[in-house]
Formats: sequence, C-alpha cells, structure tokens
Amino acid sequence: MRIGTTQEEIDGVVQKAKSLGLGVQLNVGTDKTVVAILGSNTGQLSTEIFAVLPGVECVTRIMKPYKLTSREFKTEDSLVSISGIEVGGKRVVVIAGPGAVESEEQIMEAAKVVKECGACMLRGGAFKPRTSPFCFQGLGKVGLELLAQAREQFDMPVVTEVVDPGDVSLVSKYADILQVGSRNMQNFALLTDIGRSKHPVILKRGFACTVTEWLTAADYLLAEGNSQVILCERGIRTFEDTTRFSLDISSIPVIKRFSHLPVIVDPSHAAGHYALVPAIAKAAVAAGADGLLIEVHPNPKEALVDGLQSLTPSDFARLMEELRAIAKSVGRYI
Ligand code: PEP
Ligand code: MN
Repeated sequence: MRIGTTQEEIDGVVQKAKSLGLGVQLNVGTDKTVVAILGSNTGQLSTEIFAVLPGVECVTRIMKPYKLTSREFKTEDSLVSISGIEVGGKRVVVIAGPGAVESEEQIMEAAKVVKECGACMLRGGAFKPRTSPFCFQGLGKVGLELLAQAREQFDMPVVTEVVDPGDVSLVSKYADILQVGSRNMQNFALLTDIGRSKHPVILKRGFACTVTEWLTAADYLLAEGNSQVILCERGIRTFEDTTRFSLDISSIPVIKRFSHLPVIVDPSHAAGHYALVPAIAKAAVAAGADGLLIEVHPNPKEALVDGLQSLTPSDFARLMEELRAIAKSVGRYI
C-alpha cells in the first residue's frame, strides 16, 4: 500500500481478497502496510484486480507465471524418451541434418553422413516458416515421406517442424518429434493442438521472448497432458549484428534451475555462419545442454535454405570428435 494510505483503503483490499476466497496476511511496517494475498497460485486471477484499488502502490506476484514446467511443480529432471533414446539424461543427444528436405538424394546422403558421425536423430524441414513468401517453402508432404524413408533406411528418429495447427496430425504420422519454430513459440492454437496430440515436441525459444515467456508457452503443451517436451535455445535478437542471433548461453543454467524440462541448443540458427557453429556448440555442451540441433548439408553450397550456417560432412565429423571430449569433461557422453 502507498505511504499514508488509510485504514479504509487497506480494508478495501482485504475485503476484495476475502470475497474471492483468498487468505490475507497483513504486514504493518513503520511506513507501509503490505497485504500478502494467499491462495492464488494458478495465475488465473489477474494482479490488476488489486492494482486498481485505492491506496494500492503495486502488486507483485510471488509465484512464477509458469506452473507445470517449473521445478516447484516437479523437482526431478524430466526425461523424454524417443525410440529408446533419452533426452535429459547423461547422453548429449545430437540431432543433425539439413535445414530443409530438398530431394531424396540430399536427405539420404545427409542421413548417412550424420549417422556415420554419431548423430542419433535426423532433422530436416518439410514445412519451412520462411520470412519471405518468395523463398523456398519446403516440399511439404513429399518432404515428410522422404524423411520417413530416411528414418527406415538409417534407423534414426526424425525431427521436423509443424507450422500450421491443421497439419499436426499429418506431421505426427511421420515425425518422431515435432518441432515448433522460433516464430511460432507463442502460437497458442498450435501449442494447444500439439499438447492434445501428446506427440514429443521440441519447443524453440522465440527470438524476442524471455525465458519466463518461453516456459509459460511450454505450459500450454503440458496443460493439455503432453509431458514429452524438449526446450531448444536458438538465440535471441539483440543489438549485436555480427551473428544472426545472440545465443543466450545463460538460458541453459537458468532453465535447469527453474524448470525440470530438458533443454537443447541450436548453434546453427544462432551463429548464422558455419565458421561460428563449432565454438557455440561446444560452449552449449559445456554449459549443460542436453543436446544439440545442428544443420549439416551434404553440399552447403547448393543448399536451398541456410547453406551459410550449414556444416559440411567433414566439418561435422570433426566437431563431433571435439564434442565428445567436452561431453566427457562434464560427466556426459555423446
Ligand atoms: C529450423 O530449425 O529449421 C528453424 C527454422 O529454426 P528457428 O525456428 O529457430 O528459426
Ligand atoms: Mn533454418
């Protein structure tokens, strides 16, 4: 309450809380009175219903806005299991492949090289969320079929993005993990549908979103009963323009502290340039990431999407060796 507030105003706040079935604790200081309101931990009641009352200086929510994703809700780490591969355990899960599925030859070659190098899942976009409508939008359903073919041939789970809520069931038929892209982190209709599908999902961080907004968005998935949620840090927009995005490395320990969900890192979209990817990938593993999502193309010079940030097969092979050493040094393996 404001300094100099009247007893009547304090009573008004107390009455309001009681009328909503909430408990109240009064803390009467020398200058100020603080009214602690107890029992609204779901976030369903807006703080504004108190902020507008006479005499109120400010209303501070003590509980986090995210619930189901929080460590308070679940103290042990969550593991997401995909065809026997656990994400969130001792193993650092490397998911690699091209930005987009372009052709049978390209995706098969990509699958072969990433598998040989020790990646345990294949990535590849069939539906691409492109900034411009004139850019290659992906092969759509044909791309999904090619991914399924690669999954069969190389016995690797596949990860691919779903952009449209109407495509969730289609993409779920082909993908072992659905990916929600950065631009869709707060597409709540999409999150709700994926939540209902109960399909494993990677939720990328919106590049203009805080960690709190990211975890709160993940609550949409958990609230529908989908607990197979993996977070993916992929960089945020800052004033820095020497990289495509600024990788927020600190979000990894922050997530580990406040959430039970596994978190992986996409160094490719953060870097925007192949030369920067290895250092960022290694930093992520050192910082405690549970996995990496890396763009690898059999021939980046010919890539239809994001060739500049894609590693060649030989660069990827070298990086995997370096990553093994980093993983070992932090008590993990690849
Ligand atoms: C991607 O991984 O293909 C992608 C489009 O990434 P982001 O959503 O992080 O930009
Ligand atoms: Mn991309």
